[in-house]
Amino acid sequence: MDRHVVIHYHEIALKGKNRPFFENRLLENIRKATRGLHAGRIYKLPGRLLLELLPEAAESEVSRRLARVFGIANFGPAVRVPLDLDAMAEEAVRQAGEQPFESFRIETRRANKAFPLISQEVNVEAGRRVLERVGGRVNLGDPGLTIHIEILFRDAFVYTEKLAGPGGLPVGVSGTVATLLSGGIDSPVAALRMMRRGCKTVFFHFHSFPMTSLASQEKAVRLVEALTAYQFTSRLHLIPFLEAQRRIQVSAPPPYRVVLYRRMMLRIAEKLARREGALALVTGESLGQVASQTLENIACIEAVATLPVFRPLIGTDKQEIIEESKRAGLFEISILPDEDCCSLMVPKRPVTRSSAADLTVMEADLGVEELVEACAEKTEMRRFESPGRAVPAA
Ligand code: ATP
Ligand code: MG
Repeated sequence: MDRHVVIHYHEIALKGKNRPFFENRLLENIRKATRGLHAGRIYKLPGRLLLELLPEAAESEVSRRLARVFGIANFGPAVRVPLDLDAMAEEAVRQAGEQPFESFRIETRRANKAFPLISQEVNVEAGRRVLERVGGRVNLGDPGLTIHIEILFRDAFVYTEKLAGPGGLPVGVSGTVATLLSGGIDSPVAALRMMRRGCKTVFFHFHSFPMTSLASQEKAVRLVEALTAYQFTSRLHLIPFLEAQRRIQVSAPPPYRVVLYRRMMLRIAEKLARREGALALVTGESLGQVASQTLENIACIEAVATLPVFRPLIGTDKQEIIEESKRAGLFEISILPDEDCCSLMVPKRPVTRSSAADLTVMEADLGVEELVEACAEKTEMRRFESPGRAVPAA
């Protein structure tokens, strides 16, 4: 049997002159996602892509991987037949015979307007044969089985399973951002949302080793491994933050420390982001979720940044974030125990309304520039690749 996956995309089709750029990126991402699975060539056809499956390819694994490729609206593992009514209808009969159903419908799409029969004529003939030879009844509204026939230019494709893709834009078309990844539930989901909008992301994790254990770094590594399945290669910077925290403790009263830590993190992240060619920072903040995430504090934190700071979860409830995290296979990792670098030294009552002026005074003796430089220099960088070989630690 001549197996292919018919892949449909969403918004890409709307992008006018940019369309080849989007399609090529999607094609390249599909190639990376299916590496090692005996997928064959990928063809660009009008309005869709076609992925060839070699005889030894495991269709279920290919489907599992395609379900993570942003930009795909839906896809169907299909059988290729000649551009011929008889061949299409016979394949529809064969596929209908392979599964139990009570009602069915044939849904033909004719991209090739030169094919002499219109879609409805193909529906009628294939439907007639399925009724006669397999049985069931026709139900156009809510059928148990839909048999899709796509009439393209050289061949036609028949399939019964139309699977949902993740939507969005292909990773890479929107450029690079830098995500501050804590090891909690929120920031990995924030990273994923940016990927879904076509961004590739580099990751920054701040840790207080050796004051804290290696647990938070190990979690960050595992989260980046999981997230790399969506963008194929990643870089994670593990940034030692202890020195900065110690200095902040000396110069600021406890209620102000969290905001001061965050300002410091942003400055360091920005320095590294520029080196990485990232054009924006991303955090997992959600309005009002914790004391450091009031409007006043967010404003004070952001005041030190010159790159845009994106907070894709700002208006999302915790419960929705948790559900998204579970769906993406991140939740199990995020809830592993760790000691977050900030929870260690966080006071019981952080200020909820800090003012930029107070903070600037407290930072006067910190040696901000030099601290930023020192932390950025001591960063350890790890590379990730998915699927396939692990990349040795840099
Ligand atoms: P998360 O679930 O992502 O940890 P949170 O609700 O716990 O978020 P905070 O701890 O206030 O919120 O952190 C807010 C954001 O600051 C995080 O989403 C993350 O982007 C960033 N951040 C916090 N701690 C770190 C860290 N140790 N390393 C990198 N980024 C961090
Ligand atoms: Mg956290």
